[in-house]
Amino acid sequence: MYWKKLSHERIKKIIFEALAENMDYRGDKPILGIPGTYLDPTEFYPDAPFLKDAPFMSALVSNPNHIGVHTLSEESVLEVFKGTQKIERELIHLITEQIFKGKKGEQDGYVATGGTEANIQAIWMFRNYFESEFGLKAEQIALIYSEDAHYSMPKAANLLNLNSIILKVNEENRQILQSSLEEKVEAAINSGFKAFIIVANLSTTMFGSVDDINRLGSYFTDKNLPFRIHVDAAYGGFIYPFTNQNSDYTFENPYISSIAADGHKMLQTPYGTGIFLCRKGLISYVKTNEARYIPGKDYTLSGSRSGANAISIWMILNIHGSEGWRYKMDTLCDRTERICNRLDQMGIGFFRDPHLNIIAIKANHVSPFLANKYYLVADTYEGPANWYKIVVMPHVKQGTIDQFLSELEKKNRAVGE
Ligand SMILES: *Cc1c(COP(=O)(O)O)cnc(C)c1O
Repeated sequence: MYWKKLSHERIKKIIFEALAENMDYRGDKPILGIPGTYLDPTEFYPDAPFLKDAPFMSALVSNPNHIGVHTLSEESVLEVFKGTQKIERELIHLITEQIFKGKKGEQDGYVATGGTEANIQAIWMFRNYFESEFGLKAEQIALIYSEDAHYSMPKAANLLNLNSIILKVNEENRQILQSSLEEKVEAAINSGFKAFIIVANLSTTMFGSVDDINRLGSYFTDKNLPFRIHVDAAYGGFIYPFTNQNSDYTFENPYISSIAADGHKMLQTPYGTGIFLCRKGLISYVKTNEARYIPGKDYTLSGSRSGANAISIWMILNIHGSEGWRYKMDTLCDRTERICNRLDQMGIGFFRDPHLNIIAIKANHVSPFLANKYYLVADTYEGPANWYKIVVMPHVKQGTIDQFLSELEKKNRAVGE
């Protein structure tokens, strides 16, 4: 993985050039047919002096629509916004080929509203794939995920009329239990399920646990069952590939068909920057042919979407470069490690994957007072918590961590006495 860091000036130049390549609603092109325009100028006036130094804000104000998918062809989906659509195409290539090690030009993708949409898009695509290639009905296709998976999976199952198979995990290491996998899949086969859409977590939200994707893939391969694996990397997508050089979560792994990754979690981009990625040849299963008024058709769940979002992700990845981002993510992991060492010294139970910045602490060590004071997140709010998590995000100050740890130590010493 390598891409060079760009200077602020260079980034500014590239984005303004892309905006200039778009047709400007204020320019002299006779744009009569597009049901879009610039932001309302009463509030968002285009001659605000700071805009000439602010490429992202300028993109927001000029309001390009990135409807459709821009990796399918070098032709733009809407000619009017071809400059910034090119930035999105470049962005998807950067993420698939550099971060997720895909072969050049062999993946598609787009900037979705978030991880939820990217997960639903993937599951929708595989449902349609099994329906059209295997002649199956939705009720013969199962969606499989662990009990620690994000709630967008049951949401997708509900929307797409699929049955969920929820796999049990080991209480301590949060890994999917092989026995649960085998029992539940056997039972599903016996009750008539013919194909399986599997979600592998490149880090769960609550624990930062990473599913063993090769164990899942080889189980279904050995049983000769039709399956597709989607990776939910909404949380881990912009940290794990940088902190684990030997990641199995890349397009080099044939088990992986699609990936969801959120910019607005670890990458610190604005909300509305989910990323959907898949291997070439799959996205056509969600082509909406009825999108007659879009020259390039539509293959996305969202429809119209802001080009400024793609630009924000492109800018952040390029201002750091791959080495800069790796350094930043390694630093977060080092700080997480330091907390774990203190917890070990105190004899406090916790779970943590060594490549992630999430620590789930056993709830019996944490008083509700402390959990409240430090805004720790519980695994459940429907009963007593089993775990409280800390996420070492860039805003977390070492002083705050030190203070929390010292209060935690005081409390646990008092309990021990
Ligand atoms: C946050 C998250 C999602 C959902 O993403 P949104 O951007 O909130 O839609 C899905 N999966 C995981 C693991 C997440 O952490």
